Amino acid sequence: MTDYSKYSFWLETCGDDLTPRPALAHSIDADVVVMGAGYTGLWTAYYLLKGNPDLKVVVVEKEIAGFGASGRNGGWCSSHFPVTPATLEKRYGRDATRALMLAMNGAVDDVSRVCREEAIDAHYHKGGILTLARGEHHLPMLRSEFDDFAKLGFGDQFRLCSTAEAQERVRVTNVCGALFASENASVHPGRLVRGLARAFEKRGGVIYERTEVTDVEGGSSARLLTPAGEIRARQAIVLAGESYLTRLAKFHRALLPVYSLITLTEPLTPSQWAQIGWQNRENLASCNLTVDYLTRTADGRILFGSRGAPYRMGSKISDDQDRHADTHARIQQLVVEWFPMLHGVKFTHAWGGPVGMPRDRMPMTEFDPATKIAAARGYTGLGVSTTNLAGRMLADLISGKRTALSQLPIAQRHSPNWEVEPLRWFGVRYMQNAFFRIDEAGKKGKRKPLDAAWAEFLGRH
Ligand SMILES: Cc1cc2nc3c(=O)[nH]c(=O)nc-3n(C[C@H](O)[C@H](O)[C@H](O)COP(=O)(O)OP(=O)(O)OC[C@H]3O[C@@H](n4cnc5c(N)ncnc54)[C@H](O)[C@@H]3O)c2cc1C
Repeated sequence: MTDYSKYSFWLETCGDDLTPRPALAHSIDADVVVMGAGYTGLWTAYYLLKGNPDLKVVVVEKEIAGFGASGRNGGWCSSHFPVTPATLEKRYGRDATRALMLAMNGAVDDVSRVCREEAIDAHYHKGGILTLARGEHHLPMLRSEFDDFAKLGFGDQFRLCSTAEAQERVRVTNVCGALFASENASVHPGRLVRGLARAFEKRGGVIYERTEVTDVEGGSSARLLTPAGEIRARQAIVLAGESYLTRLAKFHRALLPVYSLITLTEPLTPSQWAQIGWQNRENLASCNLTVDYLTRTADGRILFGSRGAPYRMGSKISDDQDRHADTHARIQQLVVEWFPMLHGVKFTHAWGGPVGMPRDRMPMTEFDPATKIAAARGYTGLGVSTTNLAGRMLADLISGKRTALSQLPIAQRHSPNWEVEPLRWFGVRYMQNAFFRIDEAGKKGKRKPLDAAWAEFLGRH
């Protein structure tokens, strides 16, 4: 039997018995059938039942609830999207962008509200995000991001910090300024996803675990196929498999599984914390294209996450990618580079998982009443809060309610497919390599590589 606690510190410490729930044994009928017991599937299922307690809602999960990114992430419950506010405005216009950003602020708060209402102790803490400029070359990026948010009318939620103010908050090497964003929180991801599963069941929902969906058929007899039988949906099928969805041939190019890896220190001592500061437990980030994200856990450890495990031909997803030794070694080196006072610190956990990146970097939700197929996906590395928004949007769309949420620009949209192989492999590996070279040049105070502008352009398109 798989030991699911080994997949992340979060699953290990979620306080739940991880013994799988019963698998599907034979064909059944339901009103709504959800594939995937991560945040997307569970938020959608939870809100559907909350809106109509008489619905029969069933969730089918290949492993256990929280097996995917939802049980492994960095714990940022963020109000941001993977693209800049300027890009949002260019794509959707000012009013729709503002509506989207307000909805994201609402999602961060809704996670907290549901945790309170459902007694989910997910260690929710609204400490904001502090994005650090580690070198003068990062400052223009932070200033322009601040200006973009301010132009959209969100200036009061952001604050440019001087070197002294940034270092007052947290002592990290080479910091010469920061951007603080208040409307962001952190959570214990495992407690959140497992708690959501229980909250859904309390409302009468059913979860079948260790049940793999092998195909999806839409139309008047919409159904999910599994080795034990089919689940027929009277009203809707919800595809909530994120990166793992790409394993189904029909959706293979819908997303790109990009690996994000995490390392965790032992709990630090009070004197180590006194040297580091970081008393407000903000989520920390750098401006690096290779992405650095840090949290101070509720039990006093540093979680450091970053991209890096190389993309594998054919969008391969496998457990050994979670444990890519070179990437974990690089991240552990970064911890000591950022916090030299932690030289010799022990690392107790290392894990990772795939994030689902859409071709245009923006998440989508959709429901087609003709095929009865609904889906939400493509959060890249920012799904903890966005899945809450997506779940509420899908619940509205499936229930036929025309609400402010179902009018947001990420509703009823489609992201283009990724390129076919081997083009995809060449392109992604080139981007991974270029981003790494650009970050390294900046760190060493060297000029950007000759292809930097080209790589940065591709990264935005
Ligand atoms: C290492 C890492 C760090 C991250 N850090 C952050 C962060 O700090 N903040 C943030 O906002 N986001 C972060 N993310 C992204 C975030 O975790 C995801 O966007 C979010 O969890 C997506 O939720 P989901 O339910 O859509 O997908 P998942 O949680 O991946 O759930 C999908 C589920 O579907 C199941 N499934 C798939 N295919 C099938 C099938 N055929 N049959 C049955 N079941 C199936 C899977 O087993 C899985 O349990 C991170 C992700 C990773 C991997």
